[in-house]
Amino acid sequence: MQISTIPSSPRTGGSKYDHPECRWPDPDNPRSQHFLLTKEARNIRPKDIWNLSDDDAYQIFHDFRWAETDGKPYCPVCGTFDPYSIRRRRFRCPANECRREFSVTSGTVFANRKLPFKTIIMAIWEEISAVKGMAALHLTRKLGVQYKTAWVLLMKIREAIGLRRDDMNLRGTIQIDGKYVGSIQKPENKKEDRLDFRLKENQNGKRRCIMAMREANIGAPNRTITRVIMDENNLDSWAFVKKHVRKNARIVADEHKAYDDLIGLAKMTRVNHSRQFMAEDGTHTNFIEGFFARIERAYVGVHHRFSMKYLDWYAASVAWKEDTRYMGLRWQMSDIIRTIIRRPISRNLSGYWQGAAQRIADQVWVAGKPVALTDRSPKASAARLSPPS
Ligand SMILES: [Zn+2]
Repeated sequence: MQISTIPSSPRTGGSKYDHPECRWPDPDNPRSQHFLLTKEARNIRPKDIWNLSDDDAYQIFHDFRWAETDGKPYCPVCGTFDPYSIRRRRFRCPANECRREFSVTSGTVFANRKLPFKTIIMAIWEEISAVKGMAALHLTRKLGVQYKTAWVLLMKIREAIGLRRDDMNLRGTIQIDGKYVGSIQKPENKKEDRLDFRLKENQNGKRRCIMAMREANIGAPNRTITRVIMDENNLDSWAFVKKHVRKNARIVADEHKAYDDLIGLAKMTRVNHSRQFMAEDGTHTNFIEGFFARIERAYVGVHHRFSMKYLDWYAASVAWKEDTRYMGLRWQMSDIIRTIIRRPISRNLSGYWQGAAQRIADQVWVAGKPVALTDRSPKASAARLSPPS
């Protein structure tokens, strides 16, 4: 088995930009070969994945879960080492007062999983090797699993990726912008009957805005962070910048008035897009537009529809793809396994088809706070469209 093809050591501090597998483009040689054409971009071969046995796949999860202790399992509750192996791949804590039974996925997003480990590895492989993401329906045919299975599998990965935002603190030059998605309404047949859907009163309340910030530093880092809001406004942009931007950063925004107040938080530069794409001093928002282009391509070309309920996770996973686009498959694979094996159990997706779906609230921020948009009455929608001042 080629376990060595996937590094099992955890990332210990440092940035991925210092990682030997990072191939950030050389600014002195802008015409060098595109990263995805190089052999570093495909440093896990498909047959390395297909040839894994389920025991090999289990061993990968095992090594990642207990990487800090050199692969020695310990109780997830009390931390006691040397658990008893009670049956295949299950352990019991030896501490008398604990006696907790656990497995390699206990307490992670894949707790209580029924799928073979190899299928999970194959799903991750398919997801990372598709630069705009993998549609669940496509994955059903690739893996020979039901649609529901593929959908939850991909969503668990996306949810886990989304949690990485919690510790993100952007620095340097940061571009901020918003992109509207959803609420596609069919226009009337006759032109005189058609409504102007750009106007607030003609919308159906399903439109959401992905507000995103992206570092635009020469070389690295160029991290991207997203948050779903109802519409671009001062309160939300303020809260977003306050939480995720370091002091001394410089923010670049377009002329939208939602970014006017940010001047109180950071140095600001504006680009007036009605006049120019790039200001005289070279200031632009092309990096953030590039990220939105990837969202658009993922929407148009792959998913065809983002559930507004899970828009936050889709956006987060596209942001991860944007940020790791110069990392090889091996690095991406280990980053995903590391992420899902350390993230807590999914509150949202555990037992999804057993009723959890009803408990999921929209992942939307209103007036700078995350809110649960479970009330779908027209009145509640109207209230959401005009956040409290
Ligand atoms: Zn224990």
